Amino acid sequence: MLSLNTATVGDQWTLEQCIEGCVKHGIGAIAPWRDKLQACGVEKAVKLIRDSGLRVSSLCRGGFFTSDGSGNLDDNFRAVDEAAALGAESLILVVGGLQADSKDIARAREVIEEYLIKLLEYARSSGVKLAIEPLHPMYAADRACVNTLSQAIDLCDRAGDGIGVIVDVYHVWWDPELEAAITRAGEKNLLLGYHICDWLVHTEDLLQDRGMMGDGVIDLKHIRSLVESAGYDGPIEAEIFSKKDWWNRDPDEVLKVCIERFQTVV
Ligand code: ZN
Repeated sequence: MLSLNTATVGDQWTLEQCIEGCVKHGIGAIAPWRDKLQACGVEKAVKLIRDSGLRVSSLCRGGFFTSDGSGNLDDNFRAVDEAAALGAESLILVVGGLQADSKDIARAREVIEEYLIKLLEYARSSGVKLAIEPLHPMYAADRACVNTLSQAIDLCDRAGDGIGVIVDVYHVWWDPELEAAITRAGEKNLLLGYHICDWLVHTEDLLQDRGMMGDGVIDLKHIRSLVESAGYDGPIEAEIFSKKDWWNRDPDEVLKVCIERFQTVV
């Protein structure tokens, strides 16, 4: 089942419009970002999504444990509460990069783990699953210094129950250990989500120039087969940050192309 990650339509649609768009185009699941969720209001969003019949494949996102000295915990607790209210299948975590004025990536990873475990205690009491999304190493300084699927699985192993991983093709497609890591995640029941887009060979912006599925070089069918062989059968989220292309197109067209590509190249 395809899921619309609301980042795919940029700022063009509100959450209300994203929900309507999914229903109109027959997309069965949605993954809201918290800015759109908060603009809509959590209570209203819960009602609209429940009435629409959409699944909530995830809530994007919590994390950034290194952005201040507190692990960003107050905001992370709120994110867990929002995920619980929505019945989201997981809360996605982008764990954070280096601490301010630091070059110590090993220390940043320790700090992340300490706060992650605190958040996990809270999430367990709310019944919300946390999902670590390893990010491509180009984001290690400022967004996430968990950079491979293997590293994320190791972290889950140490943290215990209630946490798993997201496989986002944009971040992990290059990894020579990917197949082994997906198999390992499946054996441990850690696969909580699968995100798709594409890697454009001439990427111009490292954050906001992701490709539409089929326009780049990621072997999407192969990675999907690995994830599904490992036991993942949940929604597949289209998550495309595309400042110069898809965010400027009519969102109805974007959804139509996502569906068509989902049926043909994913
Ligand atoms: Zn993602």
